[in-house]
Amino acid sequence: MAREYPIENVRNIGIAAHIDAGKTTTTERILFYTGKKHKIGAVDDGTAEMDWMVQERERGVTITAAATTCFWREHAIHLIDTPGHVDFTVEVERSLRVLDGAIALFCAVGGVEPQSETVWHQADRYDVPRIVFVNKMDRVGANFARVLEMMKERLGANPLPLQLPIGEGTDFTGVIDLVTQKAMHWDTEDLGQTYTEVEIPSEMQDEVAQARENLFESIAVEDDALLEKYLSGEEITHTEVLACLRTATLRRSLIPVFCGSSLKNQGVQPLLDAVIDFLPSPADVPPIEGTGLHSDQKNKIIRTADDTAPMSALAFKVASHPTVDKLVYCRVYSGTLKRGEVVYNVRSGKRERVNRILQMHANKEAVSDAAYAGDIVALVGLKQTKTGDTVADQDEPILLESITFPDPVISIAIEPERASDADMLEETLEKLMDEDPTFTVGIDKETGQRIISGMGELHLEILTDRMIREFGVKARVSKLQVAYRETISTAAEARGTHIHKTDEEGIYGDVGLAVEPLERGEGFQFEDETDETQIPRQYIPFIEKTLEGAMGTGPRIGYPMQDVKVTLTGGSFHPSDSSEVAFEAAAALAFENAVRKANPLLLEPIMRIHITVPDEHVGKVIGDLNARRAQINESTTQDVSINVINAFIPLSETFQYTTQLRSMTQGRGAFTLEFSHYDVVPQSLAPGVNPVLSA
Ligand code: GDP
Repeated sequence: MAREYPIENVRNIGIAAHIDAGKTTTTERILFYTGKKHKIGAVDDGTAEMDWMVQERERGVTITAAATTCFWREHAIHLIDTPGHVDFTVEVERSLRVLDGAIALFCAVGGVEPQSETVWHQADRYDVPRIVFVNKMDRVGANFARVLEMMKERLGANPLPLQLPIGEGTDFTGVIDLVTQKAMHWDTEDLGQTYTEVEIPSEMQDEVAQARENLFESIAVEDDALLEKYLSGEEITHTEVLACLRTATLRRSLIPVFCGSSLKNQGVQPLLDAVIDFLPSPADVPPIEGTGLHSDQKNKIIRTADDTAPMSALAFKVASHPTVDKLVYCRVYSGTLKRGEVVYNVRSGKRERVNRILQMHANKEAVSDAAYAGDIVALVGLKQTKTGDTVADQDEPILLESITFPDPVISIAIEPERASDADMLEETLEKLMDEDPTFTVGIDKETGQRIISGMGELHLEILTDRMIREFGVKARVSKLQVAYRETISTAAEARGTHIHKTDEEGIYGDVGLAVEPLERGEGFQFEDETDETQIPRQYIPFIEKTLEGAMGTGPRIGYPMQDVKVTLTGGSFHPSDSSEVAFEAAAALAFENAVRKANPLLLEPIMRIHITVPDEHVGKVIGDLNARRAQINESTTQDVSINVINAFIPLSETFQYTTQLRSMTQGRGAFTLEFSHYDVVPQSLAPGVNPVLSA
């Protein structure tokens, strides 16, 4: 049982793109060209797998593959799905967490759009090497040079074109490879499967010469040896060029740029070549870090992408289905994972058996006996594994750094139609929570209702829709509720004492503390300025824990508090009557008194909204945004007659916006929403918000 592809021949990549830039089309073409030219791995015709597909088809749902595997030039490429919709930024984050490199796709007309900026910067944070594909070169208004400029201006990137388009818009006929100095033309008869290389058209000679000079200058900057060759006029070989570009791409000092038209089947194969030539293999990226479970291993431990190392894998996506086994998509970071083996879920401490290991190909899955370091596979059998969990060798567990998931900002009450539907609802909610850590379920303390919370209206809409249609749950949902927060606006001090004395025993706790507001988003901070003559040291951790817990319920309505610093300033104790409990009670009391005095405020989630709207409707849309308390940051013309508006808007003002925008723009406006930050609710609007929620 050896690995089919050496680790150097594996690529884990994602395609990051703004909605509509052509990600689906490009992905389809990639799967088509790779499937045509290369044998797809041995497919077990085991009936179980087929059943799985049949059931899926019968129910008319697609369990969208979180990762698809294809093959090109003796390499295995795992394409990891990166959703384009910003309502699902967390999905983007989690795919960035497991991929090694990315293709950033831009539309040749729209170029770098605000949403692409967000994803680009996310990829920067994860140090993901990238190549760029400028798609839709055939569209009227396509402008390759402009996209390069936008990359510099808006992304601060250092793009290096390795190709030039031959013509733009309706004149687009092919692509020039600046390294080989050939013009490529695709055969329209066979869906672009074949392409011919011809001489560069004479009218483009000058442009190509200039672009090549730029290419060699960029390469020379990257590599001293090549710089010398370049200066002395010596020839730099094709291999040297590629090697240097690869190194530079991996260290992200430059971004190779390609172009084409996926729809017209032009330019996709060179892009696949670029994935192989320039993007990293799992062996090229730094080894994964995690923490051990034993107390002496709390420091970081690392695992290299080595098949013989202890196994570690991250479950980055769980796909649940009402009748079909749950699929857990994992990236194996180290070691070898074998079918039938028991693995250890490091979060839950549970052991689970891997019944099947699947590789998802374009239209089918292939069953494998093993998965190796660097592989991306879907596992069947891990019933208790949730998105973000680490599964590892049970003898040498490691907890991989999980994906950070933002807290939900919006809630809705849900109840079964009849009491007999309750179990089914419960079960379905559990499944959906396993899939999606940004989706939580709680109980309303006052009404006892089940409350589900998520990242936005659309997020909850999709989830409730899936629940009802896909899982057949009979349930009713109520009105959307905003997940407010609370904070304080001034500093205040207070003292809390918890002192009782009876004949036999006494209780004695006494805490003085000060609270002060922090910057938005800073959370909770704790400082201790007392000494052991005031509060014995062993009580301090308990006091801190109590205060952290007390942050869970704000003084105004009971929403969680944030952005508060607490400093212990004084206290006293009794040699025999003091205890943890007494100090906890005193601290809670002091905190409650202090925050009540500190002018508590209500905070609401503010969303970043990005709207595209035809020129003639801009006035109306902006007027409406103002009425919704939006703060408009930018309104620019993007495409020929399309306007882009970027603004901040309180979440509570965005309910039903889909319908509203549609009616204001005759159906032509589109928008995306993404959580940005919490901000103060104006006093006039503050009272009378939701009941108290418990997580
Ligand atoms: P996604 O939202 O990024 O997945 O984009 P799609 O692949 O669904 O494409 C969005 C629209 O752009 C569809 O109507 C496609 O047919 C079109 N499209 C995709 N690629 C190209 C291209 O290369 N040229 C042109 N003219 N249209 C394209």
